[in-house]
Amino acid sequence: MKKTILIIEDEQKIARFLQLELEHEGYAVKVAYDGLKGYEMACEPDIDLVILDLMLPGLSGIEVCRRLRKVSQVPVIMLTAKDDVSDKVMGLDMGADDYLTKPFAIEELLARIRVALKRSLPKTKPEENVLSVGLLTLNPGTRVVKYDGHPVELSKTEFDLLEYLLKNKNIVLTRDRLLEGVWGYQYGGNTNITDVYIKYLRDKIDNRFHVSIIETVRGVGYRIADEQ
Ligand code: CA
Repeated sequence: MKKTILIIEDEQKIARFLQLELEHEGYAVKVAYDGLKGYEMACEPDIDLVILDLMLPGLSGIEVCRRLRKVSQVPVIMLTAKDDVSDKVMGLDMGADDYLTKPFAIEELLARIRVALKRSLPKTKPEENVLSVGLLTLNPGTRVVKYDGHPVELSKTEFDLLEYLLKNKNIVLTRDRLLEGVWGYQYGGNTNITDVYIKYLRDKIDNRFHVSIIETVRGVGYRIADEQ
């Protein structure tokens, strides 16, 4: 999907030039010519990055940045006409991610944009949250489970149960706790349902790959432990 960049710049020639260059690079571009309008547009969820001029009518670039940071973590690259260190420092203090001093080479801006967009990728990349024990991996983002690279097909409840066990690795979980954590309710009576699903999981993982990943702790419950 195209990334959308908002340019907040009152000098129309510069704004137009930037717009054409960015569109040429394949970005969708929006433009605001004063600070107030720019702030409003920057708060919209479709904006992936803001290029913010410092000297603006309405609201200064610093003020736009300060207000924006209260509601959004969208990357901001500041543009400043002057080579004024205090402005830059203030801008960065207000939460700008980067700055460029005018005049700048467009290639420099494009490179900074790429870096800022990359940095702002969601912090929770699926592969960073992968849960594992031994050769078994579970990816909560993609809901893919593998043993030694072999896909393991699980039903939703089986997946949720395995995820819960892995999230609480090395902890013995009682049947009541499993019910509450996986099925999401206090189950007053028969807790056999946990035993049934543990058996399903064992059939699909332990028995299939000849391992014992899910441990029964007699009289208490179940556990997945690092040391088998
Ligand atoms: Ca300006």
